[in-house]
Amino acid sequence: MSGLVPLAPPRRNRVLRSGSLRRARCGEAVSARDKAVGIDIGGTKIAVATVSASGGIVREATIPTDAARGFAAAVPRIVDTVKRLLDESGWSAHELQGIGIGCTGPVDRVRGTILNPHTLPGWQGGDVVSPLRDAFGRPVLLENDADMALRGECHAGAGRGFDPVVMLTFGTGIGGAALVHGQVLRGVAGEHPDMGHVSVDPRGPRCYCGTSGCFESLASGSALAAAAAAHGLGDARQLLARAREHEPAAEGILRDALSAVASATWTIVHALLPERLILGGGMMDEHYETFAAAAASAVARAAMAPPGRITVARAALGNRAGVLGAASAALNLRTEE
Ligand SMILES: [Zn+2]
Repeated sequence: MSGLVPLAPPRRNRVLRSGSLRRARCGEAVSARDKAVGIDIGGTKIAVATVSASGGIVREATIPTDAARGFAAAVPRIVDTVKRLLDESGWSAHELQGIGIGCTGPVDRVRGTILNPHTLPGWQGGDVVSPLRDAFGRPVLLENDADMALRGECHAGAGRGFDPVVMLTFGTGIGGAALVHGQVLRGVAGEHPDMGHVSVDPRGPRCYCGTSGCFESLASGSALAAAAAAHGLGDARQLLARAREHEPAAEGILRDALSAVASATWTIVHALLPERLILGGGMMDEHYETFAAAAASAVARAAMAPPGRITVARAALGNRAGVLGAASAALNLRTEE
C-alpha cells in the first residue's frame, strides 16, 4: 500500500487565492504546513513548484520528461529538482503538508503508479509516490493531470467560486475533469472519467479507446495534425491558419472539429449541468475564441438547461494549473500527526 491518506474536505482557509501566482520572497514566513510541492508530469516535460497557501508559487522549474530513458531514470531527477527548489525557497521538507503529483493518465491513485502506455511508454506500473515519500518523509498524493489542472483552476483560476465545474483540456489529446460539490468527480473504483472519449460521430475516425468518432479523435491537436497531413495542409497550426484564410479544405476540417466540440459540449452539459465550462490546454492559447464560440453555441441551444446559468471561460492559469492543483491537493491532505 502507498500509505495515502484520504483527502480532507476543502477548507476555505487553505485555498490558493485568486491571482496567487506572485512569487513570494525566498524564505518568506508562512505558517507551518501551509507549504506544499506540486509536480506535473507530462509526456514532454515535468513541472515542479514549491507553493505556499498564502503566497502561491514560490519557486518553479521545468525539466524534460525524457520518457524514452525510462521511469527509473526520471525518479532521481524529480527528487533532485524538488530538493533544489526546497533549498531555493528556504524551506525544509518537514515543513511541507505534502507533495502532490499530477501525471498524464491513467494512473492508479491507490497504488501510486503510472499506467499510461501511450504518452509514457515503458513507465507502466512505475511507483512515483514511494520514492518521493521516502526521500522527503511527507505524504505524497498522485492523481490524473486533468484532475489536478481542474483543482488548480477551481482554487485559483477560472473555476474559483463556481460549482459544478467541467474543464476540458485541448492538447495532443483532449482531457476532461469535473468538480461536483467541491469534490473531483470519480467513477467506479475511484477512476477518472475520460470525457475525451465521448463519441460524437459513430462514422468518425477509429479511436484507440475501442470506438469511433470520439471527441478527441476529431478535435484534439493530434487529430487536427493527422487531418492536415492527409490533405497536404501542413501541421495543426498551419491548418488553423489556413482555415482563417478561408482555404476550403482547412475550413472543412475545422468545421468538423468545432462540430465535435459543440456535440461533446451538448452531451457534457446535459450529463453534468456545470455552472462553468473551462477550456484550457495549449491549443487554447491561440484558438480559444473559435472553440469557445462552438461550445457556447451548444450551451445557448440547451433548452433543458437553466437559461443563462452556464458560462464558458478560458483557463486562467495556463501551464501552471497542474502544479498549483497538485499543490492544493497536497495542502488538503489530512495527516495523522
Ligand atoms: Zn476514443
